Amino acid sequence: MVTIRIRTPRPELLCEPPKPSAMNGVNPRTIKGKEWWNETRRQAYKAAGGTCSACGYNPASAPLEAHEVYDVSWVEGKLILREVVALCQFCHTYIHRGIHRDSRHCNQKLYQASMKYCTKLLEDLGLKPLRTPRHNIPWYSWYLELEGKKYFPVHEEPR
Ligand SMILES: [Zn+2]
Ligand SMILES: [Zn+2]
Repeated sequence: MVTIRIRTPRPELLCEPPKPSAMNGVNPRTIKGKEWWNETRRQAYKAAGGTCSACGYNPASAPLEAHEVYDVSWVEGKLILREVVALCQFCHTYIHRGIHRDSRHCNQKLYQASMKYCTKLLEDLGLKPLRTPRHNIPWYSWYLELEGKKYFPVHEEPR
């Protein structure tokens, strides 16, 4: 039997506001460990079938990268893992553009190429990245909810 899977790219993944910076470093991959992460991302790569889950291509011609997608409650200050997707290097860089831009180790060439590629892609589709919603959650109150447990920020107050 031949299974034909039609993969529909989801460029709207590129529009979601970045997760609150207080939660950088608080990841299911860190909490649940390497074995879980390797298996989870293996499934994400398999489901993606070699093309990016956001843009549908692999414009950077580099290995796909696994990315954790969250449902974020800006009212409760809560993150819940929604899914793990496989992204091309450009889309993944674009999604984390704030981190890349602020990093001293930023690969400028990759950053610029990613910004250009994804900005054009969204423009062509008539999509706009969403702004971070206004909220009143202090950084130390944010948490990730995973399997009924709460995980709070691991770092001091972010800059
Ligand atoms: Zn992509
Ligand atoms: Zn990511």
